[in-house]
Amino acid sequence: MADIIQLLPDHVANQIAAGEVVQRPASVVKELLENAIDAEADSIKLIIKDAGKTLVQVIDNGKGMSNTDARLSFERHATSKIRSADDLFQLHTKGFRGEALASIAAIAHVELKTKQEANDVGNAIVIEGSNVASQNVVVTPKGTSISVKNLFFNIPARRNFLKSDTVELRHVIDEFHRVALAHPNISFAFYNNGSETFNLPVSNFRQRIVNIFGTKTNEKLVPVEEDTEVLKISGFVGKPEFAKKTRGEQYFFVNDRFIKSAYLNHAIASAFEGLLKNGTHASYFLNLAVDPQTIDINIHPTKTEIKFDDEHTLYALLRSAVKHSLGQFNIAPVLDFERDPSLDTPYSYNKNSSNTPNIEVDKSFNPFKDESKIKGGGTSFKKESVSNWESLYVGLESKGTKNQHDFSEVHFESEAKTISMFSNDKEAEHTHTTYQLHNKYIVSTIKSGMLVIDQHRAHQRILYEDFLKNMTTKEGISQQLLFPLELHFSTQEITVINQLKDDLEHTGFVFSNVKESSVEITGVPVGVPESEVSIILEQLISDVENEVPDSNFSATDLLAKSMAKSLAIKTGQSLQKEEQEHMVNKLFACKAPNVSPTNRTTFITMSVDELDKKFI
Ligand code: ADP
Ligand code: MG
Repeated sequence: MADIIQLLPDHVANQIAAGEVVQRPASVVKELLENAIDAEADSIKLIIKDAGKTLVQVIDNGKGMSNTDARLSFERHATSKIRSADDLFQLHTKGFRGEALASIAAIAHVELKTKQEANDVGNAIVIEGSNVASQNVVVTPKGTSISVKNLFFNIPARRNFLKSDTVELRHVIDEFHRVALAHPNISFAFYNNGSETFNLPVSNFRQRIVNIFGTKTNEKLVPVEEDTEVLKISGFVGKPEFAKKTRGEQYFFVNDRFIKSAYLNHAIASAFEGLLKNGTHASYFLNLAVDPQTIDINIHPTKTEIKFDDEHTLYALLRSAVKHSLGQFNIAPVLDFERDPSLDTPYSYNKNSSNTPNIEVDKSFNPFKDESKIKGGGTSFKKESVSNWESLYVGLESKGTKNQHDFSEVHFESEAKTISMFSNDKEAEHTHTTYQLHNKYIVSTIKSGMLVIDQHRAHQRILYEDFLKNMTTKEGISQQLLFPLELHFSTQEITVINQLKDDLEHTGFVFSNVKESSVEITGVPVGVPESEVSIILEQLISDVENEVPDSNFSATDLLAKSMAKSLAIKTGQSLQKEEQEHMVNKLFACKAPNVSPTNRTTFITMSVDELDKKFI
């Protein structure tokens, strides 16, 4: 039988390769922008028409190409960026596969103009479907301009596959954002159908984010910095209260390259745990710098997915750095800590911190922030120690007779009256009243209307923050048991207990003996009934086994959550007036009073206005 195998002609091979590299106009945008960056340009213009379907042009002021290189650049596997396979692990450029220009030229009309600084004139090449139509000497500024016209002109099926201009433009803008965010040291301009859409001057990273996403973004950013031998992290996460329903603003850059990583995204999500409303996603803009030898970018033709040698460590470092930032900026429910370099736990403790109980208040917290009226009201505090939730109560009695408009307004100039949970000030205690509804909700009047708290969830929040604080400051107070308590566990369970032993001890547990299949406990945290101990530990073990990707690492958080869940006052439990009030006080002294540790709403408010509407 005759031989049937033959080599594919170049233009066919290029078209096939183009299928991988160029899916849509946005892919062309990415490749051309990256080439301009690799050419060391510090000013790059992107011009598109009809969402890039008719034209994608990139003009840079980079180093340009020689005559020969200009022609060669369209050959497949023609690259100036690597010479041997070893270079793959020393990459400092975006490109290296030498495929992009060849692929693009196979499926579009391409015009290239390029000039190197030392030359007086440059070179122009026109290529259509892999065929060189012309090559001329031209007068052109230093740098390179590449126009890609009529994408997929010779593959109608692919052209028909393109989405509407709106959708394709969205992809182009996304790509532009990614590249522009990764390179704030380069100025970018973006023209869409003749009008300037973005003009981004050289700036720092924060300014670049703000220039792209709008001035309002600035106040939403929390810096994240971390510098270790394996990984350098810099950038920002969005404050939890600004989290969005869509996953839009989530950016990882590894060595200045935008990448997608579900795994690292999980690290961030878990750092935000307990802080986000259900169904919302944290935004982040994070630069990760790693040794190029420890990553493999070669696994995907568009290079948006990369392989890390040691993903677990990156995960832990990232999660810890973000948690630390959220805590440091008083966003997460973590108090008084400094950075722990050992990474065993995300937080270290302040050895010298005193035991004086004080209420720590998130001053930025305001359950009425949606109310437009806030803007007009003063937001200054006369006394640092006055927690702002009090202002919900302040003046309730005295100003209650004022007109309705006043009544519904939230004022923040709290009177110089301090209500402390530890104060015996009778007057303070009676500034408001609470009621319990169906042994489930605590209802209270507040200045603007009423407040309804879910007792079980609220108590979880309070206990969670207490435990977390005790564990990070290692100040949990223990209560000694009259007789040691012996509890039996499987070997697997004992392993988990051993893992968590230190943290458990910081909450107040005292283990006198941990054997192969049992533990002996001689002390428990104050307030934990002896009868609950085995339930708590069992719950904890199952939580650790079921929930955590890296149980070692988030043990503290999980432990606090698990114990809070076990010990919180349940629905159905009747509460004394003082207990109700204490709960309200403690809840609003929390860092994140509005959600339970598992992210559920702890309270709702209803203003008199809203009530009035119901009576119309
Ligand atoms: P790669 O970027 O993977 O090397 P490309 O097909 O994108 O492959 O580009 C091929 C070569 O053309 C590059 O290696 C580079 O030498 C040259 N080149 C492409 N675009 C530019 C540009 N804007 N300025 C200077 N040289 C360029
Ligand atoms: Mg390239």
